Amino acid sequence: TPEPMAADTTTTATCGYCSTGCGLRLHVRDGEAVGLTPETNYPVNLGMACPKGWEALRILESDDRATSPMKRNPDGGFHAVSWDDALKEFTEKFKHTMDQHGAGSVAFLSTGQIPSEEMAFLGALAKFGMGFIHGDGNTRQCMATAVTAYKESFGFDAPPYTYDDYEQSDVMVFVGANPCIAHPIQWERVLRNPNNPEIIVIDPRRTETAMAASQHMQLTPKSDLALLYAITDQVIQRGYVDESYVAASTSGFDQLAEHVSRFSLDTVAASSGVSAEQIISVADSIGRGRAVSLWWTMGVNQSYEGTRVAQAIINLALITGNMGRPGTGANSITGQCNAMGSRLWSNTTNLIGHHDFASPEDRSKVAETLSIPVENIPADKGWAYDRIMEGIRRGEIKALWVIATNPAHSWINQGDARELLDQLDFLVVQDMYHSTETARHADLILPASGWGEKDGTFINSERRYGLLKKVRKAPGEALSDFNIFKAVAHYWGVGEMFAQWSDPEAVFSLMQSLSRDKWCDITGIDGYEQIDRCGGIQWPWSESAAADDVDPPQQRRLFEDGKFPYPDGRARLIVDEITPPPESPCDNYPTWLLTGRGTVSQWHTQTRTSKSPVLRKLYPIQPYIELHPTDAGDLDVVNGDQVRIQSRRGEAVANAMVVPTVSPGQSFMPMHYEATNQLTLSHFDPHSGQPSYKDCAVKITKIDSV
Ligand code: SF4
Repeated sequence: TPEPMAADTTTTATCGYCSTGCGLRLHVRDGEAVGLTPETNYPVNLGMACPKGWEALRILESDDRATSPMKRNPDGGFHAVSWDDALKEFTEKFKHTMDQHGAGSVAFLSTGQIPSEEMAFLGALAKFGMGFIHGDGNTRQCMATAVTAYKESFGFDAPPYTYDDYEQSDVMVFVGANPCIAHPIQWERVLRNPNNPEIIVIDPRRTETAMAASQHMQLTPKSDLALLYAITDQVIQRGYVDESYVAASTSGFDQLAEHVSRFSLDTVAASSGVSAEQIISVADSIGRGRAVSLWWTMGVNQSYEGTRVAQAIINLALITGNMGRPGTGANSITGQCNAMGSRLWSNTTNLIGHHDFASPEDRSKVAETLSIPVENIPADKGWAYDRIMEGIRRGEIKALWVIATNPAHSWINQGDARELLDQLDFLVVQDMYHSTETARHADLILPASGWGEKDGTFINSERRYGLLKKVRKAPGEALSDFNIFKAVAHYWGVGEMFAQWSDPEAVFSLMQSLSRDKWCDITGIDGYEQIDRCGGIQWPWSESAAADDVDPPQQRRLFEDGKFPYPDGRARLIVDEITPPPESPCDNYPTWLLTGRGTVSQWHTQTRTSKSPVLRKLYPIQPYIELHPTDAGDLDVVNGDQVRIQSRRGEAVANAMVVPTVSPGQSFMPMHYEATNQLTLSHFDPHSGQPSYKDCAVKITKIDSV
């Protein structure tokens, strides 16, 4: 616990919602934050913040904060118990399950919302200390596809850009991304671009970003891979390939050219609904641009062939030499405030610190650095989120520890997910609030502190470590996740193994040692004080770089020398066959349902943002569905009418919002409402395991008022 701050002072901290990672200035009185303003000197947001950031303190005061551990009563409801009782129950139940059914019978599901140090602690404790094999994060739902795409294309999961690239491009292509709503401060950086950039949006929906674009390719849902291949073919045919860059920095160009030559203009125009002229026009813009950047987010990642779509975007940047220069790049925008931390530190897909579970050398290095017996480090990375859920269905996973995430709302095909949670012998939910949809299924609730009530680091979309700070006391007996993990280690009997994990900054030091000689090297960072003083520090920042230049520069992009992390220094150009969507509209379910972020003022399942009266006022409380005026007319529906939406999985009720943002035959529901995932289809990208939230078929009918 840090020393209380002086009365009437200010300090800075990184925002705890989205991956933009804005700096906020907190106004502190007698050790407690009493207000905040956006930080004008922070290089990310330059004095701006969205409504969620402005309301970051308000949501800490909610009545449904979890303030003591709670245990389910045999006949329903919960009663408060002491931490001692809760941790004994936790330990006994998990140990008993593992004794009876093996180490593979338990799992954890974590989050991109806690600091890197807590992720590292959880991953190390669960897998090296407690003997868990399986564990994953809700980051599987938002950016696993980008991770897989980068690892296969570059040889390392390395988003190459810096936010200054938004201000230096002259052509920007956004694929399945709506930064106006989802990343509003990043969009503000676009608006500051002095080059009057051409903005191209590829999205089936006429989003706020599409409305602001120079060109909108309003394609048929899930025709994106074919469309990108057709654009690539036109780039090649029209002579825009940077041949010297391709020769020096890539491999696989001939296979790429042969593959995309099969995507003729006429065929793709017919299947995507985008005209041949527009495909040529976009190819010309990309080919002629001086500095072209391509950006993507959930419209690509949350798709059944998302990894290949992301790689089609990467291919376009590589073959036109738009990489490693100001204003360029194939740039995945991440979702959560610390999804990037999860990629490096959660000990799930990668062995902690971007090592490989399967590599004996990596296991030895990690064991030595952390002073942990090497035999405690599994050689298998364990199951991803979807396989953990399937493991519950088969009765193989019997006890689950859920930390700061809400699968009973957010997991795809929600009705099924809730049944699976109820099948568990033991469910522990560790969260700031006792009222989440998932906590209602719990056997034990552990009260956790939230952003502003603990210390650590987040990593934002441009690979910047930013600091969060304890500026408030957590309510009641709530503990930081860090201290909960410490207590679990003690009760489990492995406290000694984690003795050096004494506080977040000590763990940051361990993380630095683990990063040595990796692309994500942070050995040059001189502790939390330097991160604070510099307004965050982007990785990599190695000891040798720091020796020459004590303060890291703030405009750092990767691959400036045209060398990629593969041993031969070349990026891979990867293509694949197109596969049909797992579900398309048919006679019974004739309408596409698109899902996504609906507003700048709500976040994910509204667990936190619904606690702010201001944010609630900025967004409809009742679920709504966007319908095209033509479809609404056919259904005899006007704005505000209630409609029933049915899919093969379930049904939901929502108010009609009749708008031409969707095309005829398509509809859109925001993911923030509980209703939306009652409809979505359990289908996953085969390479990344990411759920395909963006494509299912529904039937919509008017509910006649009585
Ligand atoms: Fe926070 Fe993201 Fe809003 Fe910035 S844009 S204030 S990081 S939620």
